[in-house]
Amino acid sequence: MMKDNIREILQKALEIGRAEIPKGKVATYIPELGKARADALGLCLSLSDGTVYKVGDTNLRFTIQSISKVISLCKALEVRGTEEVFSVVGMEPSGETFNSIVELDVRSNKPYNPMINSGAITVESTIVDYVSFEELLDYSQKLCNDPGIALNREVYYSELTSCDRNRAIAHLLRSKGIITTNIDTSIELYTKMCSLNVTAEGLANLALVLANHGVNPLTGERLMSPETARIVMSIMLTCGMYDGSGRFAVNVGIPTKSGVGGGLVAAVNREMGIGVYGPALDENGNCIAGCSILEYLSQQLGLHILN
Ligand code: GLN
Repeated sequence: MMKDNIREILQKALEIGRAEIPKGKVATYIPELGKARADALGLCLSLSDGTVYKVGDTNLRFTIQSISKVISLCKALEVRGTEEVFSVVGMEPSGETFNSIVELDVRSNKPYNPMINSGAITVESTIVDYVSFEELLDYSQKLCNDPGIALNREVYYSELTSCDRNRAIAHLLRSKGIITTNIDTSIELYTKMCSLNVTAEGLANLALVLANHGVNPLTGERLMSPETARIVMSIMLTCGMYDGSGRFAVNVGIPTKSGVGGGLVAAVNREMGIGVYGPALDENGNCIAGCSILEYLSQQLGLHILN
């Protein structure tokens, strides 16, 4: 049941988020991302009955970045199965930054989880010979209920020509026998998936499908098994906000995934999907305004998973 004063709550949430923006920074390590407007901010709630609430810049396009890790993991679990996927990637928080390489070399052979770069590149390597980029694009459009999603070529080439660190990770993974397919094609697929142009509204729809355990309630179409949705939401809860995941779980308690493009996708089990856009990031690479917005919404609407 949505509160009568929901619009007021959403406006207030946006104000709270906006106040955080000056403390954040737009990502510049992918040069093209540095062009984003730091003060852009949008929030969208998508409910199972088709109701959509939007405030701010909810139709502005930005690149999905690491939120694509959620989509690729869904596809990999559907196509390759749980056992196969988790034979090469773990399901534990890493406690390191999203593009860390150190723990992979000294602490573990498998990447810690599919939400960090090493894990996601590994996940792509499990599907690269089974699923084309076009199929993944089509899957992304269906999950987000947004046929307008396309590859942002500027961001794609900007990252592809500056992703030495991800290539280093991929080489290390091959040296350990975790990646057994062609490295370049896995890196290309990973980088293309990160470069899809989405909106906050589309992300809210993606979250709604997960929250609804794999079925898009607006079309009735099943897009993944309930098991896949449960696994993916569990990993979002424990690892989706990188080394800020523990604090976020305590304060917000909603399975959420961030991307350095400024997006957040948050799946409120059985209730709704939330999408946020705000490119100013905190020190963990998470949308700084979005973290405060979700904390406020969680309190006001009673959305914490352990409520
Ligand atoms: N494409 C980005 C990278 O590999 C994604 C990172 C992110 O969104 N956290 O660095």
